[in-house]
Amino acid sequence: MTYSYTQISQYVRCPRSYRYRYLDGWKEKDTRAAMIFGRCFETALTAYFRGQDCVAVLFKQWEVYRDVPLDYGKGDSWDKLVHQGVHLLHQFAQDDRVRIRRPKKNLQLKMIRPLPGADQFVAYIDAIGEIDGTCHLIDWKTTTSRYPEEPQDLLSLDPQLICYSWITGIREVALVVFVRKHRPEIQYLKTSIREEQWQEFGQLVHAAIGQIQSGQFPPHSGIRFPANGCTSCPHLGLCLEKQPLIDSKLVRRPGASDLDWLEHLDD
Ligand code: SF4
Repeated sequence: MTYSYTQISQYVRCPRSYRYRYLDGWKEKDTRAAMIFGRCFETALTAYFRGQDCVAVLFKQWEVYRDVPLDYGKGDSWDKLVHQGVHLLHQFAQDDRVRIRRPKKNLQLKMIRPLPGADQFVAYIDAIGEIDGTCHLIDWKTTTSRYPEEPQDLLSLDPQLICYSWITGIREVALVVFVRKHRPEIQYLKTSIREEQWQEFGQLVHAAIGQIQSGQFPPHSGIRFPANGCTSCPHLGLCLEKQPLIDSKLVRRPGASDLDWLEHLDD
């Protein structure tokens, strides 16, 4: 089996949701405009570091979705997103704080770490490069709100950065956050990950895989007033057995239903 950060974090958040997604094949429909735009924007960033016309690349990538009925956030539109993206690309070039040497090698790196047995852990790292002259592992994020910067070193608890640091052995990590708000802004947030955090993350991975392999998938809603993790979970329709909700949010991986007979073995 190959595991990733997304899989392990989904299992830790709610084991039942993990089962729906990775064993039963129920995948969230790809209609979230912000997420699709984020992918287009990251392709434009790659073009920037390769010395290409990144604005043209952003238009070309995003143009594909101009007439596609996507789910836009409150106040967002196709035009608004592209304008914010262009503004952020210009700002990024003006700041000139990030350097990626040999972009073909140091952008979108695939890292594999063998795990006990025949398992492995895979991660795709956005970039390894210099921020303000110092080498960092870099993760890009596009978002509509600023990342919190207080209290100091809050970023060192970010589980995704800990995971990427664990798999690469690079302690200096950074988030470059492209904030799509009224006045677009870029945050360059840096932190260091400790060796002890690598060990703890490794233990978390082993524990989660052990539970997955022993077939433990209890629902873990995290419900506690007023926060309710189920309301933003794409698998809510499956848990509540509400077909219209399933149809509106999910698609099933082709062939996944052929394995439904396995569920009856639990009964
Ligand atoms: S709806 Fe709640 S309990 Fe069901 S899979 Fe999602 S998070 Fe888990």
